[in-house]
Amino acid sequence: MGNIIELKNITKTFKDGFEAVKDFNLEVEKGSFVTFLGPSGCGKTTTLRMIAGFDTPTEGEILLNGKDISKLPPNKRPINTVFQRYALFPHLNVIDNIAFGLKLKKLPKDEIRKKVKKALEIVDLEGFEKRKIQTLSGGQQQRIAIARAIVNEPEILLLDEPLGALDLKMRKEMQLELKSMHDKLGITFIYVTHDQEEALTMSDKIVVMNEGKIQQTGTPEDIYNEPKNAFVADFIGDSNMFNGVMTGDRKVRFCGHEFVCVDDIENGTMVDVVVRPEDVIITEPSKGLITGTVDSAMFKGMHYEITVLSGKNEIVIQTTKRSEPGEEVGLIVEPDNIHCMIAEHTINKIESAVNSDYSLDFLDGELKADLTEIIPGAVFKDGVLYNAHSEEIDVSKIKIIISITHSDIEMTDNLDEGLLTGRIINLIYKGDHYSYVVRVDDHEIDLVVNDEDLWNMDDHIGLIIPPECIKYSLKK
Ligand code: ADP
Ligand code: MG
Repeated sequence: MGNIIELKNITKTFKDGFEAVKDFNLEVEKGSFVTFLGPSGCGKTTTLRMIAGFDTPTEGEILLNGKDISKLPPNKRPINTVFQRYALFPHLNVIDNIAFGLKLKKLPKDEIRKKVKKALEIVDLEGFEKRKIQTLSGGQQQRIAIARAIVNEPEILLLDEPLGALDLKMRKEMQLELKSMHDKLGITFIYVTHDQEEALTMSDKIVVMNEGKIQQTGTPEDIYNEPKNAFVADFIGDSNMFNGVMTGDRKVRFCGHEFVCVDDIENGTMVDVVVRPEDVIITEPSKGLITGTVDSAMFKGMHYEITVLSGKNEIVIQTTKRSEPGEEVGLIVEPDNIHCMIAEHTINKIESAVNSDYSLDFLDGELKADLTEIIPGAVFKDGVLYNAHSEEIDVSKIKIIISITHSDIEMTDNLDEGLLTGRIINLIYKGDHYSYVVRVDDHEIDLVVNDEDLWNMDDHIGLIIPPECIKYSLKK
């Protein structure tokens, strides 16, 4: 069919110097349903506004049917936008709201009436012509807003979180209706949402964004099944994410076991491993690749959500079969359900619970973390920790992330000297240093350590970590 819109190397820097969109490249096929998906503030609206013409790119070009439209004003573009807030005129009735733009264009009355009627049919609100806006429900108002946009017969309809103000049930209904409107109209939809489920149900193509950059572009299936990086995996669907390391040809080590996988990544590479909850199979302990204890089991209507603790790892599983808390189970993951992505991080992250005396559970309070600096607004009063609203903080409900950069850890053969001890389970030469994976004694965690000296596999070593190099943060 060809591309109706192409964005080439689009960058948007605002006056204050903030770069909201960075080197954005996208091809939108004519007649398709494309969705920009990403957390709040990632640049979705800014990109949409540039397509609509309300904002101009700082760099790059926008092509419409092959022609640069970067300098074309909004009303000269065959594009209409539907916003989250309906932006209807409350003092006008339905027909006058929808006909507003056509009247400005001074179209003949007859033609206006015909077009409005057709638009109302498409949004399934025939007979609502004379109704007052205030008498309509949120969903109906949003349909009027859509009718007002499509009455101009645009080639492209931009929709910026159009269902965001609706309740869940209405939103689900409208998702299906929007999809069928798209089919009926045959025009291109560019849709913006931060709701991954919405994006997965409606789109032909999803553009996952974070911090102004495209993370991945693909069909819903691509994005869900083959996330390109940890951000996408984390953002789309529920997933278990583990730190892993490649330990051979299509072998990856995580959760204390070497799994066979299908990703061909160089031996020794640190990876983020993603396993979907529905891809973990529960079996008898003796048949599992790893074993663990059921921590919780919750009925979710279509399935049970079961949490299993295996060493320090927490694994979430969706299954139709119930397990009981306390039960010992074996877990299996098939090779093609293990998704390995080269880790971009150079920081070890360790999760720790907080004890009732406010010390960190990890290393039994040996690490000194100041909770008032970690938790925004937190203060100690008479030895009790309160939040910014003067409510006592229940520390059993929070987790602290301990972050240590790979190069801040030093290895020593004097075991007493180290904050932690462990065994080298993997090493790789990285040009100017070695990168080691050390399995920490008594804790089911692997730390990556960069060191210039050569150590051997299986060496038992101490890890020196200067306290000032340890950063603490609150787990989301
Ligand atoms: P999204 O729609 O994905 O939530 P936006 O595109 O609205 O995100 O905004 C992206 C980022 O750009 C945000 O950090 C926002 O604060 C910033 N931003 C938006 N508009 C402006 C502006 N006019 N000036 C400066 N920064 C802006
Ligand atoms: Mg927005």
